[in-house]
Amino acid sequence: MLQFILLSWERTNMDLELLGTSIIGGNRGAATKDTLRAVDPHSGQPIEPSFHSATIAELEQAIKLAAAARREFDTCPGVKRAGFLRAIAEKMEGMGDLLIARATLESGLPFKRIRSELGRTCDQLRQFAGVVEEGSWVDARIDRADPDRKPLPKPDVRSLKRAVGPAAIFCASNFPLAFSVAGGDTASALAAGCPVVVMAHPAHPGTAELAGRAIAAAVNKCGLPEGVFSLLFSNGYELGQALVRHPDIRAVGFTGSRAGGRALMDLAAARPEPIPVFAEMSSINPTFILPGALAERGDEIANGLHISFTLGVGQFCTKPALVMMAASAHRNEFSERVFALVESSPGGPLLTPGIKENYERGLAGRGKIVSGRHGRAEIAGLAVNAAAFQTTAEVVLRTPELTEEVFGPTTVLVNADRRDELLELARSLEGQLTANIFGTDMDLSDYADLIDILATKAGRLVFNAFPTGVEVCPAMVHGGPYPATSDPRTTSVGTRAIDRFTRLVCYQGFPQTALPDELKDGNPLQLWRMVNGKVSQD
Ligand code: NAP
Repeated sequence: MLQFILLSWERTNMDLELLGTSIIGGNRGAATKDTLRAVDPHSGQPIEPSFHSATIAELEQAIKLAAAARREFDTCPGVKRAGFLRAIAEKMEGMGDLLIARATLESGLPFKRIRSELGRTCDQLRQFAGVVEEGSWVDARIDRADPDRKPLPKPDVRSLKRAVGPAAIFCASNFPLAFSVAGGDTASALAAGCPVVVMAHPAHPGTAELAGRAIAAAVNKCGLPEGVFSLLFSNGYELGQALVRHPDIRAVGFTGSRAGGRALMDLAAARPEPIPVFAEMSSINPTFILPGALAERGDEIANGLHISFTLGVGQFCTKPALVMMAASAHRNEFSERVFALVESSPGGPLLTPGIKENYERGLAGRGKIVSGRHGRAEIAGLAVNAAAFQTTAEVVLRTPELTEEVFGPTTVLVNADRRDELLELARSLEGQLTANIFGTDMDLSDYADLIDILATKAGRLVFNAFPTGVEVCPAMVHGGPYPATSDPRTTSVGTRAIDRFTRLVCYQGFPQTALPDELKDGNPLQLWRMVNGKVSQD
């Protein structure tokens, strides 16, 4: 069916036929002999067409164009950048079912899920458009001079956030749209005024090409310099590593494995001039079910847990993968309910052969340490069955492998018999994107110290809900201490993500005519600014 949508669409829209070559500013790369193809997760078979790896010369050209575009893009009015971000969203929406069908085919994820991911992607772009159009995100601060101050005169000091420069963006396998070519990292870097060079993920190159063409068309429509956007296909690590090492790249955005993120962090730190890497890596999203909640609504929580850890075939960085329960008469009933749901789960295809291999290896390793139960569905292609394991706090405390991420539809239920064991488990955890507590008001007051511990471990604490959905909104924090991310001061979802692609610049003693508009006395852009320590729009 999807193949049919794609073929019939391509027949009537030849201008959008996939070419399989990189996008280097306003041009297409060469059809090199080094190729890659996506794999259909349902059948395990390769999908046409082939995509051609970019050459090092093309990478150099993309970065050269990005560096040349830097000044014009960084200093263009926020209204113009906002128009550009909205134009990307319109172009992607204009591709409609073609884009959704290709992403569905390459990811194996349901059409409906991808349709809503497209909505989320366009909404993200529009939220950033609103932020840069309004303009106060630059956090302008003005401390006026006081020549009469004793014992020394005070200078005129003004500062703001400015674009850091060309950014390298690595796409995620598990969100072909929302964390990929036109996803949150690209949207926030472009909003800040950084040209981007994007590395397509080999799991969904066709989706990448379509999104890349939408961005390139928006660059053209808005009269921006061509170097604002390039997209590179690559078969292997060499090109991505050369991108991170390049002296004109000033920041990196990444979503993927801990090994991949860490490799890029180390590479960036070893450069003669190190640069920041904003990597979102691994998280097991520890979930604590406290006795009051277990007694009141154990079945409801068990159903919610099963939905949450199998959603998207368990390929969410916010999947609850370690579920801890305090001693309770209702605990066995809860576990049995989860196991029964797992055994009747339909299973589903994982995104790539590599992710399937990792999942199977992870389950086999886990099965040697603890007991578990699996789904029994017949599977084909890259499909796998869900699995849940059960053990005790004591075993988890002496077997740290059980707290490592296994990407896919699996979770571990952990019984803690004593309150101090539960707290020790919480203290032993690595940094996380989320930590989750199911409880009653009484549980919350009984376990106030647990919440204090979790606040040191996770970027987002969730009460009486599962963490899988991540709302895109100004207050959202999708971040956390290492290894959840490389930098706990930021978020990769929500409008604060723009801060990652900025640096602070201070102007001391400058005449009005030489200051950026954001810092001029008359406040021509009507921004909210901090003037002499007070926030105002004057
Ligand atoms: P990945 O292996 O980390 O790859 C992500 C991207 O980074 C790919 O484009 C990859 O290039 C590139 N890359 C990885 N290591 C690199 C290195 N050393 N040097 C240069 N580039 C490098 O992630 P994945 O393929 O999406 O999935 C593999 C595993 O990652 C999963 O099993 C899961 O454990 C984890 N994962 C976690 C999350 C999360 O949000 N927590 C999301 C997705 C995946 P190539 O494609 O050429 O390999």
